[in-house]
Amino acid sequence: MAIGEVYNNIKNKIPENVTLICVSKTRQIHEIKEAYASGARDFGENKVQELMEKYDNLSGDIRWHFIGHLQTNKVKYIVGKVHLIHSLDSIHLLKEIEKRYAAKDEIANVLIQINIGKEATKTGIAVEDISLLIEACEECNNIKIKGLMATIPIGNEESCRKYFTEMKSIFDNLKTFEYKNVSMEFLSLGMSKDYKIALEAGANMIRLGESIFGNRDYKK
Ligand SMILES: *Cc1c(COP(=O)(O)O)cnc(C)c1O
Repeated sequence: MAIGEVYNNIKNKIPENVTLICVSKTRQIHEIKEAYASGARDFGENKVQELMEKYDNLSGDIRWHFIGHLQTNKVKYIVGKVHLIHSLDSIHLLKEIEKRYAAKDEIANVLIQINIGKEATKTGIAVEDISLLIEACEECNNIKIKGLMATIPIGNEESCRKYFTEMKSIFDNLKTFEYKNVSMEFLSLGMSKDYKIALEAGANMIRLGESIFGNRDYKK
Protein backbone atom coordinates (compact mmCIF):
# COMPACT_ATOMS: atom_id res chain seq x y z
CA MET A 1 0.00 0.00 0.00
CA ALA A 2 1.18 3.52 -0.73
CA ILE A 3 2.26 5.75 2.16
CA GLY A 4 -0.64 8.15 1.69
CA GLU A 5 -3.16 5.34 1.73
CA VAL A 6 -1.71 3.86 4.92
CA TYR A 7 -1.70 7.29 6.55
CA ASN A 8 -5.36 7.84 5.71
CA ASN A 9 -6.37 4.38 6.90
CA ILE A 10 -4.86 5.03 10.32
CA LYS A 11 -6.04 8.61 10.46
CA ASN A 12 -9.62 7.52 9.77
CA LYS A 13 -9.54 4.92 12.53
CA ILE A 14 -8.33 7.14 15.36
CA PRO A 15 -10.43 9.74 17.21
CA GLU A 16 -10.44 13.21 15.67
CA ASN A 17 -8.90 14.89 18.71
CA VAL A 18 -5.77 12.72 18.44
CA THR A 19 -2.69 14.18 16.77
CA LEU A 20 -1.05 11.61 14.53
CA ILE A 21 2.65 12.35 14.17
CA CYS A 22 4.39 10.71 11.21
CA VAL A 23 7.84 9.83 12.49
CA SER A 24 9.98 10.52 9.46
CA LYS A 25 13.46 9.82 10.85
CA THR A 26 15.64 8.01 8.26
CA ARG A 27 13.01 8.68 5.57
CA GLN A 28 13.61 10.34 2.24
CA ILE A 29 12.12 13.69 1.27
CA HIS A 30 9.87 12.08 -1.33
CA GLU A 31 8.37 9.79 1.31
CA ILE A 32 7.55 12.77 3.51
CA LYS A 33 6.02 14.54 0.52
CA GLU A 34 3.84 11.53 -0.14
CA ALA A 35 2.44 11.60 3.39
CA TYR A 36 2.05 15.38 3.17
CA ALA A 37 0.10 15.09 -0.08
CA SER A 38 -2.42 12.85 1.65
CA GLY A 39 -2.97 15.39 4.41
CA ALA A 40 -0.26 14.71 7.01
CA ARG A 41 1.11 17.87 8.62
CA ASP A 42 2.74 16.64 11.84
CA PHE A 43 6.16 15.04 11.38
CA GLY A 44 8.59 13.80 14.02
CA GLU A 45 12.37 13.74 13.93
CA ASN A 46 14.85 12.62 16.58
CA LYS A 47 18.10 14.18 15.34
CA VAL A 48 18.75 17.91 15.03
CA GLN A 49 20.99 17.61 11.98
CA GLU A 50 18.46 15.49 10.10
CA LEU A 51 15.62 17.79 11.08
CA MET A 52 17.53 20.82 9.79
CA GLU A 53 18.16 19.18 6.42
CA LYS A 54 14.52 18.26 6.03
CA TYR A 55 13.38 21.65 7.25
CA ASP A 56 15.45 23.30 4.53
CA ASN A 57 14.28 20.92 1.82
CA LEU A 58 10.56 20.99 2.44
CA SER A 59 8.13 23.83 2.12
CA GLY A 60 4.52 24.06 3.23
CA ASP A 61 2.85 24.18 6.59
CA ILE A 62 4.59 21.23 8.24
CA ARG A 63 4.58 21.08 12.03
CA TRP A 64 7.89 19.58 13.12
CA HIS A 65 8.01 17.65 16.36
CA PHE A 66 11.35 17.04 17.99
CA ILE A 67 11.04 13.63 19.66
CA GLY A 68 14.65 12.60 20.33
CA HIS A 69 17.07 13.43 23.10
CA LEU A 70 17.93 17.11 22.78
CA GLN A 71 21.51 18.03 23.57
CA THR A 72 21.89 21.49 25.06
CA ASN A 73 24.51 22.51 22.50
CA LYS A 74 22.00 21.91 19.68
CA VAL A 75 19.08 23.92 21.00
CA LYS A 76 20.24 27.02 19.16
CA TYR A 77 19.66 25.37 15.78
CA ILE A 78 15.99 24.60 16.27
CA VAL A 79 14.74 27.89 17.72
CA GLY A 80 11.62 28.99 15.89
CA LYS A 81 11.58 25.91 13.65
CA VAL A 82 9.92 23.32 15.82
CA HIS A 83 6.24 23.16 16.68
CA LEU A 84 6.73 21.05 19.80
CA ILE A 85 9.75 19.66 21.65
CA HIS A 86 8.72 16.33 23.22
CA SER A 87 11.88 15.71 25.18
CA LEU A 88 12.42 18.25 27.94
CA ASP A 89 14.23 16.11 30.49
CA SER A 90 16.34 18.34 32.73
CA ILE A 91 16.52 21.77 34.32
CA HIS A 92 19.81 22.25 32.51
CA LEU A 93 18.04 21.82 29.17
CA LEU A 94 15.14 24.00 30.30
CA LYS A 95 17.55 26.85 31.02
CA GLU A 96 19.26 26.51 27.67
CA ILE A 97 15.92 26.52 25.84
CA GLU A 98 14.84 29.60 27.80
CA LYS A 99 18.08 31.40 26.96
CA ARG A 100 18.09 30.58 23.25
CA TYR A 101 14.40 31.24 22.69
CA ALA A 102 14.53 34.50 24.63
CA ALA A 103 17.43 35.68 22.48
CA LYS A 104 15.24 35.31 19.40
CA ASP A 105 12.05 36.42 21.06
CA GLU A 106 10.37 33.08 20.41
CA ILE A 107 8.26 30.83 22.62
CA ALA A 108 9.19 27.15 22.97
CA ASN A 109 6.34 24.69 23.38
CA VAL A 110 7.56 21.58 25.15
CA LEU A 111 6.49 18.31 26.70
CA ILE A 112 8.18 16.86 29.75
CA GLN A 113 9.63 13.47 28.91
CA ILE A 114 9.24 11.00 31.74
CA ASN A 115 11.28 7.83 32.17
CA ILE A 116 8.23 5.95 33.34
CA GLY A 117 9.90 2.53 33.22
CA LYS A 118 12.94 3.77 35.20
CA GLU A 119 15.21 2.39 32.49
CA ALA A 120 18.91 3.18 32.89
CA THR A 121 19.36 3.31 29.12
CA LYS A 122 16.62 5.86 28.56
CA THR A 123 16.40 9.60 28.88
CA GLY A 124 13.50 11.35 30.55
CA ILE A 125 13.15 12.56 34.11
CA ALA A 126 12.07 10.50 37.08
CA VAL A 127 8.48 10.98 38.23
CA GLU A 128 9.78 12.35 41.56
CA ASP A 129 11.58 15.17 39.75
CA ILE A 130 8.61 16.56 37.82
CA SER A 131 7.72 19.20 40.40
CA LEU A 132 11.25 20.64 40.48
CA LEU A 133 11.22 20.98 36.72
CA ILE A 134 7.81 22.65 36.81
CA GLU A 135 8.97 25.09 39.50
CA ALA A 136 11.92 26.04 37.31
CA CYS A 137 9.60 26.51 34.34
CA GLU A 138 7.39 28.86 36.32
CA GLU A 139 10.38 31.21 36.42
CA CYS A 140 10.73 31.22 32.63
CA ASN A 141 9.36 33.70 30.10
CA ASN A 142 9.88 31.86 26.83
CA ILE A 143 8.82 28.29 27.58
CA LYS A 144 5.37 26.74 27.80
CA ILE A 145 4.96 23.19 29.02
CA LYS A 146 2.08 21.64 27.11
CA GLY A 147 2.00 18.12 28.47
CA LEU A 148 3.90 14.88 28.89
CA MET A 149 5.68 12.34 26.74
CA ALA A 150 7.12 8.90 27.35
CA THR A 151 8.60 5.95 25.56
CA ILE A 152 7.89 2.82 27.55
CA PRO A 153 9.91 -0.36 28.13
CA ILE A 154 9.48 -3.14 25.59
CA GLY A 155 6.99 -5.61 26.94
CA ASN A 156 3.65 -7.30 26.49
CA GLU A 157 0.22 -5.77 26.17
CA GLU A 158 -0.31 -5.83 29.90
CA SER A 159 2.91 -4.02 30.78
CA CYS A 160 2.30 -1.44 28.04
CA ARG A 161 -1.14 -0.76 29.44
CA LYS A 162 0.27 -0.40 32.95
CA TYR A 163 2.86 2.23 31.92
CA PHE A 164 0.43 4.15 29.73
CA THR A 165 -2.15 4.20 32.50
CA GLU A 166 0.46 5.45 34.96
CA MET A 167 1.31 8.28 32.56
CA LYS A 168 -2.35 9.17 32.17
CA SER A 169 -2.82 9.43 35.92
CA ILE A 170 0.25 11.67 36.31
CA PHE A 171 -1.14 13.80 33.48
CA ASP A 172 -4.60 14.00 35.07
CA ASN A 173 -3.13 14.82 38.44
CA LEU A 174 -0.98 17.67 37.10
CA LYS A 175 -4.05 19.00 35.33
CA THR A 176 -5.70 19.74 38.66
CA PHE A 177 -3.01 22.29 39.59
CA GLU A 178 -2.51 25.77 38.27
CA TYR A 179 1.11 26.42 37.47
CA LYS A 180 2.43 29.36 35.55
CA ASN A 181 3.55 28.39 32.01
CA VAL A 182 2.11 24.90 32.35
CA SER A 183 -0.99 23.39 30.78
CA MET A 184 -1.63 19.70 30.44
CA GLU A 185 -2.95 19.52 26.87
CA PHE A 186 -0.99 16.76 25.19
CA LEU A 187 -0.17 13.25 26.29
CA SER A 188 2.31 11.87 23.76
CA LEU A 189 2.42 8.09 24.03
CA GLY A 190 2.32 5.17 21.68
CA MET A 191 4.36 4.06 18.71
CA SER A 192 3.60 1.66 15.85
CA LYS A 193 3.40 -1.48 17.95
CA ASP A 194 1.44 -0.16 20.91
CA TYR A 195 -0.51 2.93 19.86
CA LYS A 196 -3.91 1.26 20.15
CA ILE A 197 -3.23 0.51 23.79
CA ALA A 198 -1.97 4.07 24.27
CA LEU A 199 -5.20 5.46 22.83
CA GLU A 200 -7.29 3.25 25.11
CA ALA A 201 -5.27 4.57 28.04
CA GLY A 202 -5.98 8.18 27.06
CA ALA A 203 -3.12 9.37 24.85
CA ASN A 204 -4.06 12.19 22.46
CA MET A 205 -0.79 12.29 20.54
CA ILE A 206 0.74 9.21 18.93
CA ARG A 207 4.07 8.89 17.12
CA LEU A 208 4.09 6.40 14.25
CA GLY A 209 7.03 5.59 12.04
CA GLU A 210 7.13 2.06 10.69
CA SER A 211 3.39 1.55 10.56
CA ILE A 212 3.14 4.46 8.12
CA PHE A 213 6.40 4.33 6.16
CA GLY A 214 7.32 0.65 6.44
CA ASN A 215 10.38 -0.82 8.13
CA ARG A 216 13.25 1.55 8.80
CA ASP A 217 16.65 0.85 7.30
CA TYR A 218 19.29 2.62 9.37
CA LYS A 219 22.05 1.64 6.93
CA LYS A 220 20.73 3.85 4.14
C1 LIG B 1 11.30 6.22 16.23
C2 LIG B 1 10.42 6.76 17.27
C3 LIG B 1 9.02 6.58 17.18
C4 LIG B 1 8.34 5.78 16.10
O1 LIG B 1 8.62 4.42 16.23
P1 LIG B 1 7.89 3.34 15.29
O2 LIG B 1 8.12 2.06 15.98
O3 LIG B 1 8.55 3.41 13.96
O4 LIG B 1 6.47 3.71 15.21
C5 LIG B 1 8.24 7.17 18.17
N1 LIG B 1 8.78 7.88 19.18
C6 LIG B 1 10.11 8.06 19.28
C7 LIG B 1 10.63 8.87 20.43
C8 LIG B 1 10.96 7.53 18.34
O5 LIG B 1 12.29 7.71 18.45
